[in-house]
Amino acid sequence: MQICIKRGSDQIGGTAIELKSRNGQRIILDLGLPLDAEQNTVRLLPDIAGLNTSGGDIEGIIISHAHQDHYALGCHIHKDIPVYLSEAMLRIMEVSCQHHIPNSFVFNNVRFFHNRRFFTTGSFKITPYLVDHSAYDAYSFLIQADGKRLFYSGDFRSHGRKSKLFDSFINNPPEAVDLLLMEGSCLGRDQSTDYETETSLEDKFLAVFRKTSGLCIIQVSSQNIDRIVTIYRACKKSGRTLVMPSYNGHLLWSLNNPSLPGFTWADVRKFALEKKKGHETTPQELSCYPGKYVVLLNKFIFDTLRNQSMINEQSCFIYSMWNGYKELYRDRIEYIISRQAFMTDIHTSGHADITALKKFAEALSPARIVPVHTFFPLKFKELFKNVELRSDNETFEI
Ligand SMILES: [Zn+2]
Ligand SMILES: [Zn+2]
Repeated sequence: MQICIKRGSDQIGGTAIELKSRNGQRIILDLGLPLDAEQNTVRLLPDIAGLNTSGGDIEGIIISHAHQDHYALGCHIHKDIPVYLSEAMLRIMEVSCQHHIPNSFVFNNVRFFHNRRFFTTGSFKITPYLVDHSAYDAYSFLIQADGKRLFYSGDFRSHGRKSKLFDSFINNPPEAVDLLLMEGSCLGRDQSTDYETETSLEDKFLAVFRKTSGLCIIQVSSQNIDRIVTIYRACKKSGRTLVMPSYNGHLLWSLNNPSLPGFTWADVRKFALEKKKGHETTPQELSCYPGKYVVLLNKFIFDTLRNQSMINEQSCFIYSMWNGYKELYRDRIEYIISRQAFMTDIHTSGHADITALKKFAEALSPARIVPVHTFFPLKFKELFKNVELRSDNETFEI
């Protein structure tokens, strides 16, 4: 089997990996938009034959999860290429499209895969493994062809709400892996070896909700379902009602998982200017009883709260995203400071810390490890055995 990392050997985001079997059949693992891309243009497509032409012979594109840095260049591919993903990933893409989220689109020729049920395309046998990650329904893959076994980690962690998946994986990992393509997002970012768990964040949210007498507002990614569950659980314990934008509610509903909070629950409400339905909460209600609510922000909600002077020294603002995105919210943060509201950060990474990466690599015990999805591939040499560094567009074999 030939492997070529088209993008991702020394960067986070924009991942695309081409695999070619002995008889010339090819599959692509992920087709992500680079994080530093100003626009999603066809010129960013990696140099892979047949990606946006008819009659190409690509057996399939395998998407690990619905983060744009893993699938969003897929809007440029030829519509007939089969795209393998999970049903939940497709729902996230569809709802994002319906709400006009930038760079959202829906693949044309989709085929669903399921956790730990192998499927074949061309000469490739692929087994998806559901993992713990900040994206809902994220997968690693065991890929077999030509008698060889490759494992692609995708993005994963061990400290989220699905940490049991990590534990059961390392207790019973796939055997005899010839090559591991493993993410290393945390390297060089944060040197702490053990990240905070989602469960411990729940206690932090709860403490802030309890000590705040006014409105609590939160900047959080709508697609970070684990975090929204964490916030909901803290709301429930504090007796506050969670108010969300319609996009969040639609996304949660579309995942068809009865354990996820939604607008049919008594303590979850949709933000609305006018009350037309029982599950809606208006700015007027928020200003009458600010201590009863926690509000997840989008631009419209923030502008409404600001225009009605509803953020004040009794309020709190919680930033619950990666620090790197803070600049995008500079205006909001400056306004909140000017209103003398209490501000704090409550967040943990969507990616594995060093301890988890080590456990993962030791459990799989591959013959070779090649870094992907990292800005610091050289660090792999210090931390893991049998590391081999490869550049973008370099072809190598197992
Ligand atoms: Zn990623
Ligand atoms: Zn991701």
